[in-house]
Amino acid sequence: MSKRIVIIGAGFAGLLTARNLARRCHADEQIFLVDPRPRFVFTPWLVDVLAGDMKMDEITHPIDEIAGRSGFSFIQGKASEVVREERRVIVETADDIKSVGYDVLLLCQGAHTAFYGIPGTQECCLPLKVEEDVRRIHGAVKALLEQGGGTAAVIGGGPTGIEAVFSLKRYAEKQVRENPKLGSVSLSLTLVQAAPQILPGFSTTLVDHVAAELKRQGIVVSVGDPVARVEDHTIVTNSGKRIQSDMTVWAAGIEANTVPIAPEPETNHGYLIVDNYMHLGPDIFVAGDVASFRLHNAVVPKTAQAAMQMAGVLTKNVLAALYGKDLKPFNIENKGFIITLGTTAVASLFHRLTIKSSLFMFLRKVFYRARFKEIVG
Ligand SMILES: Cc1cc2nc3c(=O)[nH]c(=O)nc-3n(C[C@H](O)[C@H](O)[C@H](O)COP(=O)(O)OP(=O)(O)OC[C@H]3O[C@@H](n4cnc5c(N)ncnc54)[C@H](O)[C@@H]3O)c2cc1C
Repeated sequence: MSKRIVIIGAGFAGLLTARNLARRCHADEQIFLVDPRPRFVFTPWLVDVLAGDMKMDEITHPIDEIAGRSGFSFIQGKASEVVREERRVIVETADDIKSVGYDVLLLCQGAHTAFYGIPGTQECCLPLKVEEDVRRIHGAVKALLEQGGGTAAVIGGGPTGIEAVFSLKRYAEKQVRENPKLGSVSLSLTLVQAAPQILPGFSTTLVDHVAAELKRQGIVVSVGDPVARVEDHTIVTNSGKRIQSDMTVWAAGIEANTVPIAPEPETNHGYLIVDNYMHLGPDIFVAGDVASFRLHNAVVPKTAQAAMQMAGVLTKNVLAALYGKDLKPFNIENKGFIITLGTTAVASLFHRLTIKSSLFMFLRKVFYRARFKEIVG
């Protein structure tokens, strides 16, 4: 009898799994991918769009087009409830509320920007997560430059915050270069990090490279002083320091996207707890940012790299669950990473080698192009 696989979330984990399954499933199996957003966004490239080096069209792709070509169904809508006992998902579309039955359900709904209830952050800061966020940030930078320049800050000293602050600088400089009407205006930038150092958990060599580049490019860094509140044009830290910022980008954290599930599963701060096979229950699997591993021997980062690796194992495990085969445990493999610093980049390879070179900008492009193609086809 025909089986229905329903996937919630068309991000790195969900979309890649849908494509993998469509290739490997029997003809009578039906795959439904649900997402309220019409386009897949390759988020590691968002900072390149922010810098003005790429266009949004180059880093996104319509999901319905991928679905049609790959052989699965796309439902543009928001999964608003999972009724486990009846094996169905309630999906709210623009003009309908559907009940979609499943034999196997995959929860891949990712995460969204977290403001942690810090006063003023939600009202005064611009997040950096989806397409519209970049457009809003660009608009704010242009407005500031047209008013004669000013101050800007990025809150969050992790990889996204670091890449964003260099991209902002690059974008502002480009605007000034390309619009002689603006004159010699500029943007003074500050990076605000709560932890005692930028890039916590990264090697000292890498942190030193990045810190030196921040200094060289004139970006002020505030570390070890968490943000207490954000007001119009000012960031106030726990120690009482007041940092001038006419526009502030928030890149300081994420929290799980939740879909109400009855009966409620076990969670860890909203993240869905799974075993090493990414199992939440006999007919439910979880992958990507929203997954929290109960007994894993390594920390699984909330990255696209990890989500894509999970999609590979998830595909095998869904097929195993359907055809009564053994499940495969998920093991994270750190393949290294590259952090862009505007015109140059720093890379960590083979777990220990850290190198700063503009050559990595090129290698990153080649590598990301291959990953993008793997997902959108
Ligand atoms: C600016 C930025 C830069 C980044 N850079 C890197 C990088 O360089 N390298 C790296 O490895 N990672 C990077 N990441 C992290 C990476 O984007 C995430 O780890 C990755 O997207 C997680 O994949 P996912 O499939 O779990 O979730 P996502 O890709 O976020 O996809 C989740 C999908 O679920 C959908 N969804 C949510 N709720 C519902 C619902 N109720 N019903 C249906 N659908 C729903 C969402 O619309 C979304 O499309 C970056 C993130 C950002 C924001």
